[in-house]
Amino acid sequence: MIDCWDKTNEFLTREKLEEKQLVLLNKNFQNAKKSTYYSKAFSKIDKFSSLKEIEKVPFVTKDDLRENFPYGFVSVPKSELVRLHSSSGTTGTPTVVFYTKKDLDDWAELIARCMAMTGGTKEDVFQNTMGHGLFTGGLGFHYGAEKVGMLTIPFGPGNSPRQIWFMKEFGVTVAHILPSYAMHLYSGFAEAGIDPKELKLKTAYIGAEPHSEEMRSQIEQLYGIKAYNSYGLSEMCGPGVAFECKYQNGMHIWEDHFYAEVIDPVTGKVLPDGEEGELVLTTLQKEAMPLFRYRTKDLTRIIPGVCECGRVHRRIERIKGRSDDMLILNGVNTFPIQIEKALMKVEGIGRNYKIEIHKRGYMDKLVVYSELTEESFTDNFKDLEQLKCKVIESLKSELLITPEVHLVRPDSIEVLPGKAKRVFDMR
Ligand code: ADP
Ligand code: ZN
Repeated sequence: MIDCWDKTNEFLTREKLEEKQLVLLNKNFQNAKKSTYYSKAFSKIDKFSSLKEIEKVPFVTKDDLRENFPYGFVSVPKSELVRLHSSSGTTGTPTVVFYTKKDLDDWAELIARCMAMTGGTKEDVFQNTMGHGLFTGGLGFHYGAEKVGMLTIPFGPGNSPRQIWFMKEFGVTVAHILPSYAMHLYSGFAEAGIDPKELKLKTAYIGAEPHSEEMRSQIEQLYGIKAYNSYGLSEMCGPGVAFECKYQNGMHIWEDHFYAEVIDPVTGKVLPDGEEGELVLTTLQKEAMPLFRYRTKDLTRIIPGVCECGRVHRRIERIKGRSDDMLILNGVNTFPIQIEKALMKVEGIGRNYKIEIHKRGYMDKLVVYSELTEESFTDNFKDLEQLKCKVIESLKSELLITPEVHLVRPDSIEVLPGKAKRVFDMR
């Protein structure tokens, strides 16, 4: 039996999928015209006769959402709205998004697809460690997991000793967790004297923040599980936009719900599959708040070719970062995830790190604080110096700049609730 939830829509042929997209695009367009924003923006367009014609539509950005706050993009009477969520505010003022009953049901369906595609069934016990409030991560997965029929524990974030107790006592098999929190929670297991490999846990959904392949494999090794990358953003629905299948080779965008383009962030030109740029998404089925060509600021590329699982929904590569996360150090462009990748490659490097950028005279200086593991933590100055040299070398070969490195004791870097903040620009 194939692991899937909605066989018809997950296994459409490319032709049928694109036909469906065009029908939905036009339907969505008629609906969107009912909003204040699109009644003006769409005044010169009547219909789309091909998908490519979407390029006539101007992009929308987070700033447009803010300028039309709170109801400017809403396309249904207020009485049809049943839920509001707000972005976690990684950058700037939060934006607010709305859902109708159908939007919530569609969202749960998409999460159910993601969970079933990675082997989740009604036999599973699911612990959701994401925030269940305004942040979409918690409730989004909650209803998806219940739809699949999993015994669902809406735990929420923090309180590691109790998280661990629940995981153990209820035989949790599937968890939804921020990658940074998965690394941190491991220390809780060590403190409790429990090896997470002895738990029933077999799958984790990790996402909501950028993380490297190296961090994923550390999580898989520490817990003895499979960790699947989960991508989403409040403006589309929340999690459930793109998700890895069992092949863990890029995240399938559910293209019957979201039309995806990758653009050159500077010129706005649409790039062919395979080329890296900014992901731009259009909702195809959202009722409450349809968005056309929303600029996510997330940098990725579409992986050419069809996945081994047989789904034709195209895959995006792991998110490299947001365009505004790019660090420019003495004219050299770097993403925090590259720093993470270089650190995690070095044996003896622990589970957390932070990045500071200072101005030294006229020059920018990259300063990296990296935790050691319990095993590599030592008073032996010579061993530490050797390890530090290895870290500097690894960072230098990835970034082409020489950083200042400080190796610190395990669990000494503060972990705040929510998405990890790792970069502190002191310039
Ligand atoms: P905010 O923009 O305030 O963080 P959201 O909670 O909607 O609001 O977060 C969506 C953003 O989170 C995405 O645009 C992306 O930058 C990041 N994100 C979500 N999932 C992933 C993932 N799997 N990998 C990398 N980044 C991710
Ligand atoms: Zn696949």
